[in-house]
Amino acid sequence: MNQFEGFITKHNLPKYRLNQLEQQYYRNCIEDWDSLSTFPLDIREKLKEEVPIFSLHNTQCITSKDGKSEKLLAYTVDSKAVEAVLMKSDKRITVCISCMSGCPVGCLFCSTGQMGYYRSLTTREIVDQVMYFKRKLYKQKEDITNVVFMGMGEPMLNLDSVLQAIDILVDKMGMSVRHITVSTSGYIPQLKKFMKVNRGVKIAISLHAPNQEIREKIMPTVAKVYPLDSLMKTLIEYQKKTNKRITYEYTMMDGVNDSKENAEELSTLLKHQLCLVNLIRYNDSMSDEFKKSSSKKIRDFQNILTKNGINNTLRHSYGNDIYAACGQLATIKAKSE
Ligand code: SAH
Ligand code: SF4
Repeated sequence: MNQFEGFITKHNLPKYRLNQLEQQYYRNCIEDWDSLSTFPLDIREKLKEEVPIFSLHNTQCITSKDGKSEKLLAYTVDSKAVEAVLMKSDKRITVCISCMSGCPVGCLFCSTGQMGYYRSLTTREIVDQVMYFKRKLYKQKEDITNVVFMGMGEPMLNLDSVLQAIDILVDKMGMSVRHITVSTSGYIPQLKKFMKVNRGVKIAISLHAPNQEIREKIMPTVAKVYPLDSLMKTLIEYQKKTNKRITYEYTMMDGVNDSKENAEELSTLLKHQLCLVNLIRYNDSMSDEFKKSSSKKIRDFQNILTKNGINNTLRHSYGNDIYAACGQLATIKAKSE
């Protein structure tokens, strides 16, 4: 039971009160309980005492130079860092959210993975990242169109909260499932469960390697336990069953996974799959170990995929900019303190 339901039950209030509360919170973006004008004064006072109006604190928001993205750094009530990013394009307003503070998977090239793991976020902490930006946009008569679970953390390792957050985005905020994407590094049992209960949310897989050897090197924790061939088998079954396309994220790192041979191998791996490869320019993080691939290498890689009939896109540098934010903001902040 979430905090809102808990409050309604505790005070024996009728069901319509919950609907009113949720409507005002998720749709009208109220920022204090006094604004809940449909509620009697005495219940509003109780709400103020018992239910925090927001679950994130010390919010700091930085706008990128081009004004198209905003990065939120906030803290949970027990001071765990949370990050979210807003990206605006002509067609979409996307929010990238975190489901954990840090991440236990520890992929070697990922800032979040390198910062360690603090804890999973609650459903409310996940949803409130969306609400932070939704409230801001509401004042300008704008709204979020897309949500991606591509911030800090591994959604499959916090599945219940992620599923509940999706329900709120869809049922309470009225978002379309097709405009929500969940990304995973490949925890197969949880992914299978997610696929079973999935209401139509898009699935993205952090692949980043054309073979088991490279994947194991850069994503050891998950790749050793869930090898690439089992992952591919699971995903092919899903494509066949649902006729839905999988997005593969492939972050290009110099000398790691960006050779012409790697491109050929990736093409073979994904041949006949219903998929899209999302090539991402690696955002040089604070480690010297990984560097972004040159533009020429990325172009050559992309050409080979295209020649082999593999659907692909290259993320704009602005998207790239955003990925840098996931994990990096909190890490930079922690290091400077
Ligand atoms: N844990 C999930 C959700 C996070 S998604 C997952 O891994 O899928 C964040 C995406 O950004 C992942 O594909 C991740 O591999 C990628 N990423 C991490 N660090 C990056 C960096 N420095 N540059 C570009 N992409 C990065
Ligand atoms: Fe965690 Fe994903 Fe980063 Fe790996 S890539 S450490 S799973 S956030």
